Amino acid sequence: MSNNIRKYKAWSLPNFLKIPQVKTYLSEGEIKAIKTVGSVLPFKVNNYVVEELIDWNNIPNDPIFQLTFPQKEMLSEKHYRSVSEAIDSNMNKREMVELINGIRRELNPHSSSQIENIPFLDGVPLTGIQHKYKETVLFFPSNSQTCHAYCTFCFRWPQFVNLDAVKFAMKETDLLIKYIENNKEVTDLLFTGGDPMIMKTSIFKRYLEPILNNKVGNLQNIRIGTKALGYWPYKFLTDDDADEMIALFEEIIASGYNLTIMAHFNHPNELKTEAVRKAIKRILSTGAQIRTQSPIMKYINDSSEIWEEMWREQVKLGCIPYYMFLARDTGAQSYFAITLSDALEIYQNAYRKVGGLARTVKGPVMSANQGKVQVLGVNEINNEKLFTLRFNQARNPNWVGAPFFSKYNEGAVWLNDLTPAFGAESFFFEKEQLFQNI
Ligand SMILES: *Cc1c(COP(=O)(O)O)cnc(C)c1O
Ligand code: SF4
Repeated sequence: MSNNIRKYKAWSLPNFLKIPQVKTYLSEGEIKAIKTVGSVLPFKVNNYVVEELIDWNNIPNDPIFQLTFPQKEMLSEKHYRSVSEAIDSNMNKREMVELINGIRRELNPHSSSQIENIPFLDGVPLTGIQHKYKETVLFFPSNSQTCHAYCTFCFRWPQFVNLDAVKFAMKETDLLIKYIENNKEVTDLLFTGGDPMIMKTSIFKRYLEPILNNKVGNLQNIRIGTKALGYWPYKFLTDDDADEMIALFEEIIASGYNLTIMAHFNHPNELKTEAVRKAIKRILSTGAQIRTQSPIMKYINDSSEIWEEMWREQVKLGCIPYYMFLARDTGAQSYFAITLSDALEIYQNAYRKVGGLARTVKGPVMSANQGKVQVLGVNEINNEKLFTLRFNQARNPNWVGAPFFSKYNEGAVWLNDLTPAFGAESFFFEKEQLFQNI
C-alpha cells in the first residue's frame, strides 16, 4: 500500500509540549491556553493530524488546528480565569478536579437528553444502546469510547473526561441481537462511540461476528460512524490489522448486509492527503458505501466555498454527502455556533453550485431532543418573515417530512430559540405525547 507507513502516535496534556511544531510555532500564550482549556475539554492530537493536515504557517487560523487544538475563547472569560489561576497557583489535585468538574457541569454535558433513549430488554436497561428513531439502533461498544484525535467541538466530550457514570457502552452483542430481533421495525444498526474504528480489528470482530453468524431477518444495514478517515486513514492502509479490517468489511457485505461508513469530515483539507485518498478507494473496493457528515462551525468551515469544495471533492472520490449539522448546545458551542440564518445561507449558496450527485446532502440540521430538524428556508407569508423547517427524523415517525413554521429570528442558533409563527402558542410537536420507546 502506501510507502508512507506510519506508526500511530498521540499527544494530549501534558505531553503535547513534546510536539516539535508546538515549540516552534506556538506562543507562550497559545500554549497556556491549550493547558487551560485542555484541562476542561478533551484534547488529543496525533502525528497524522500534526504532520499532514495542519498548515503550521497558518496558525491560529488553520481549520484543522482550530478543530483539534483548544483555543482560549472556547471557555468563557470567567471559567478561563478560574482555571488559569488554579494552574498558576498549583492548586491541589482534589480541589482542581472539583473546580474543573463544576465547570464541566455548567457546559450542558447532557445535551439532547441522550440518557432518555436507553431501551430495555426484559426489564434490563441496555446502557450501550440508544434507540430514538424507529428504524435505527445506535450501538456504543465499550471498546470504542475514544477517537484517534479529539474535535474541540465534540458533543460527546463528557464521555472522554470521565464525567459520566454511564458512558453509553456495552460489551454484549447477544443482548443487542435479541433486542433487534424483538423490534422488527429496526433495519439499521449504527456502530458509534467515540469512534468504533479505534478498535483493533480482532476486537471489532467480536462485536460483528455474532451478528454475521446469527442472521437477524429484519436487519439490513450496518453503519459505522467514524472519523478515522479524517484522523487516521492508515487504519485502512498500513496498520498491522488494516488488511484484516478490509477483509471484515468484505465479509459483512458477503453476508448480505449493506455496509455504510458514516464518515465525519469537517474540511476539504482532510480529503487531500495521499493516505485518505487511498483509504477511501480501499474501503469502496470492498463494496461498502461512504456517506459524509459534518457540523458547520465558525473558524473551521463557515463559508459556502468550503462546503462546495468539500462536497465536490467527496463526490469525485466516490463518497455521498449526507448531513450538514448545526453546533449542538454543549461544550464550546458559543465559540463555534453559527446562526440558523447564516448556516442556511452558506448551505444554500454551496448547494446551488454543486451538481445533483452532491445534492444528496441535507442541511442545516439540528439534532435536537425531538428529532432531526432541517432548516429549509426563509419565507414571507402574510407579511410575516418565517423559517420553514421540517423533521428528517423524529421521535414520532408521523412528524417526519411535513414542513412547519417558526417566526424568523436572526440570532437563533438552536430550536429552543425559535417561537411558532402565525401567533400559535406552541409548535405542533410540543402538544403531542412524546414517542415512547417501543
Ligand atoms: C442521526 C441519528 C440516527 C440516524 O439517522 P439517519 O437520518 O437515518 O441517518 C439515528 N439515531 C440517532 C439518535 C441519531 O441522532
Ligand atoms: S470524532 Fe466524533 S466523537 Fe470523536 S471527538 Fe470528534 S466529534 Fe467527538
